[in-house]
Amino acid sequence: MNKIDKNHIWHPYSSATNPLPTFEIVGAKGVYLELATGEKIIDGMSSWWSVIHGYNNPRLNAALHTQIEKFSHVMFGGLTHAPAMQLTQKLLSIVPQNLQHVFYSDSGSVAVEVAMKMAMQYNYAAGRPQKQSFATIRGGYHGDTWNAMSVCDPVTGMHSLFSRSLPCQFFVSRPQSTFHGEWHEEDLNEVRELFETQHKTIAAFIVEPIVQGAGGMYFYHPQFLRELAKLCKEYDILLIADEIATGFGRSGKLFACEYAAVQPDIMCTGKALTGGYMSFAATLCTSEIAYTISNNPPFVFMHGPTFMANPLACAVACESINLLLESSWQKNIQRIETQLTELLQPLAMHHAVANVRVLGAIGVVEMKEAVDMHRIQPLFVENGVWLRPFGKLIYTMPPYCISDEELQALARGIMRTITSYS
Ligand SMILES: *Cc1c(COP(=O)(O)O)cnc(C)c1O
Repeated sequence: MNKIDKNHIWHPYSSATNPLPTFEIVGAKGVYLELATGEKIIDGMSSWWSVIHGYNNPRLNAALHTQIEKFSHVMFGGLTHAPAMQLTQKLLSIVPQNLQHVFYSDSGSVAVEVAMKMAMQYNYAAGRPQKQSFATIRGGYHGDTWNAMSVCDPVTGMHSLFSRSLPCQFFVSRPQSTFHGEWHEEDLNEVRELFETQHKTIAAFIVEPIVQGAGGMYFYHPQFLRELAKLCKEYDILLIADEIATGFGRSGKLFACEYAAVQPDIMCTGKALTGGYMSFAATLCTSEIAYTISNNPPFVFMHGPTFMANPLACAVACESINLLLESSWQKNIQRIETQLTELLQPLAMHHAVANVRVLGAIGVVEMKEAVDMHRIQPLFVENGVWLRPFGKLIYTMPPYCISDEELQALARGIMRTITSYS
């Protein structure tokens, strides 16, 4: 392992004294990552949901080249540009219709912070300043910055560690009704109770629609989202849909909210929005929210990142959406879903496996016990695939351009790894 990396560089959730092995990448094309040792392995993670069209995509590269020759960045205070306007037009044509105003930022976590600030400022402007807290379901993940962290699952989000300075939010159990299972009305009991007693203090309810990602790779029943949206309306609580992981086709719908035909008041997007090229995110809201904030003191929305609406990021995001919409993405995601289901299902019989589940282009193998990352990570690489499990969860969300043969190789790599691991 490279000494400078091992001794001086933090990796995500890493130890400086007992770091996990890291693998140096020297190239990447399509679904393949090329290691410094010369091997090429299949990326089953799409670099954390973002590289939906594969690496080194000629159309995305060209979009960046074209923009970089014009200008790479300008401040967004008082200035604007074609990439931001084109992307906005494109976004508004595909998101739920009620969303009409877009706020660009640099990362998913910031998009969540912006959404929470919007909800708070809206309620303040609407004369409900006592609405200061947020509610969510357990098992969620919304990012690593302070307020985003406060609505992550309290256990995996390490709330105890930060409890003295983390704002205290309301948590209800995640729905027991799974996406493919039956709907159980009782799943809403806690939400109802919470809203009845606390609605005056809750500004918004934030959820990952249908798919809980980094908090547990769990697919829940669309009826929960539908009923939750209704209850939110009834109690004047805004609904924030965090589509950062699910957006842009991953779940089988362009946005997972569509499974429940729900129009959120605020929506966060990121990850796949970027095409996997550079850090970027967008928070969208309704005109009701935008106008209420703007027609009451302080008459402006109080946020403005230095790299807001970076033209390079906008240009590549816009081209990434073009690529997606030009493809028969729905059929393609269905193909991946069918293949992943067929290929991974046999693992359900394995003695170390608790559950196998697939939705859209997301495949999950839940183990009975948490995996030892020091042992399993190199095994995946030996078997020709790149996966990054956490806890008991081995999961894959490959680039959409993955072929049937590559999907088979990916599944084979997962199977071989699990077999030799346990
Ligand atoms: C990844 C993720 C985030 C955070 O995005 P970053 O770009 O890592 O800050 C927020 N919400 C969800 C649902 C995510 O999957």
